[in-house]
Amino acid sequence: MAADFSNLKQDVEMINQSEADWFHLDIMDGIFVPNISFGIPILESIKPLAKKPFDVHLMIEQPDRYIEAFKKAGADIYNVHYEACNHLHRTVQSIHQQDMKAGVTLNPHTPVALLEDIIGELDLVLLMSVNPGFGGQKFIANTYTKVAQLKELILKKDSRALIQVDGGVDSTNAKKLVDAGTDVLVAGSYIFKSTDQLATISGLKELTF
Ligand code: ZN
Repeated sequence: MAADFSNLKQDVEMINQSEADWFHLDIMDGIFVPNISFGIPILESIKPLAKKPFDVHLMIEQPDRYIEAFKKAGADIYNVHYEACNHLHRTVQSIHQQDMKAGVTLNPHTPVALLEDIIGELDLVLLMSVNPGFGGQKFIANTYTKVAQLKELILKKDSRALIQVDGGVDSTNAKKLVDAGTDVLVAGSYIFKSTDQLATISGLKELTF
């Protein structure tokens, strides 16, 4: 979402060369969130250039409608919002049937405790640290508490789920997030607005080890 859409190839190659582990792709439908980003044709066009997994974050209503289509377009991780799914258990099963990792995302107002009966099925939980819809927003500090609560739930339920944080991640909060239990940091504007993107990614990784 934070990349230069007029020169996506260059940004994909930058990520290939960088120490980043995954591509994080923000899909927005203009209904679940106010903004519209991009969809399947963009994934299909960059997939052959990309050398790292595609982590697809679906900020759309009823994301179960597109599981197969995104798999065909190259998704490796299919990350749906808790708030957008009426039958989350079924959605997670469908994602696994398509041989993708299943992630569930919580908006800032959604309590971690709601995942109690699904956490054992999940590969990833994404905590939104801003309200989803736009890049470049300010980090919400309550996220640290949610990471700790989620870590506790994961341990209690013996879940394999990784903890991921998305929104306003930068050098001021990365270490504290990892110390609280975060496994995966999503950084957008912080990387793409920096003058030396490769060095910014390396710096973020160094901070968190
Ligand atoms: Zn995202």
